[in-house]
Amino acid sequence: MPEAPPHMLFIARAMKRGRLAHAYLLFAGEYGALERELTALARLLLCSSPDLAGAAGCGRCGACRKVDHSTHPDLAWIGSEGGQVRIDAVKEFRSQVAFPPLAGERRVAVFPDAHRLNVESANAMLKVLEEPPPYLVFLLGAPQGASILKTIRSRCHLLFSPRPDDAAITGQAGGEVDMALLRMAHGDMAKVGLWSSPVYSNFKERFLRMVEAGDSPEGLLLALTLAQECGADEDGFGFMVHLSACLARDVLALRAGAEAFLVLPERVVRLAASRAGFSEVSDYVSWLSGISLLQDRNINRQFMLEKLLLFWLGGAVPAVGN
Ligand SMILES: [Zn+2]
Repeated sequence: MPEAPPHMLFIARAMKRGRLAHAYLLFAGEYGALERELTALARLLLCSSPDLAGAAGCGRCGACRKVDHSTHPDLAWIGSEGGQVRIDAVKEFRSQVAFPPLAGERRVAVFPDAHRLNVESANAMLKVLEEPPPYLVFLLGAPQGASILKTIRSRCHLLFSPRPDDAAITGQAGGEVDMALLRMAHGDMAKVGLWSSPVYSNFKERFLRMVEAGDSPEGLLLALTLAQECGADEDGFGFMVHLSACLARDVLALRAGAEAFLVLPERVVRLAASRAGFSEVSDYVSWLSGISLLQDRNINRQFMLEKLLLFWLGGAVPAVGN
């Protein structure tokens, strides 16, 4: 049996000590593992004889089977529809969790698309998240790098799922691949091909050197020349946005104690983390996901990249809409 991932062990330890938090937010691996991992966590929390050392539900009891078949009466699974978590679904969840559990000692509410809560549904959900009944555990999920409303994020214990199995992906890619590029491209092999070229390797090298140089003449020069060269076309622009998002995600992972999951060199990530706080980096990630949507529009790419890069030299989080 493969060893349980760190976030599962973390929750199993909390259960053993009777110190479960009310809410966990899991940032999942890039390869669609989120639902599977949330189901495994729900099984662990609801199982009638969980294996806390192995961090797993037994997989055989009635509770585990009902979780697998989505028929457990104490499990509320609030997914999204049409790209949004609907207010009706949140209202239904609220009436459901107003009563103590029917089968075991706790209820579990899973929001696998926490990044798709709109303001209205988030507000309805916050009413419970702010003062949850003692028997309720929230499991929120989102893809890595997704932006989550600050009001929600701040009430959750953050967890990061492990990186995908390197061997499996390298096999899929057929040979030697730069793992950092593969993760940055979310497994899109066409992008990996493009980004492996000498031009992009050079961009990446200089970006890392820029972060190391920090707020110095060298760092500034690197930022401005990179903005100019990468801003020259759509592909270069997209590459820099992805690379910056990757560093931001690594900084968040580092601050959550998940050093083992870093994609970029740890030395560089530590330097970046020493210059920007958790909430600044989270705001920066939100801004970044906003500009990737703007990519088709007629924007001044070079100007955007200057702001994007200067952040890593200790600059301010660029304002939304700029
Ligand atoms: Zn079980």
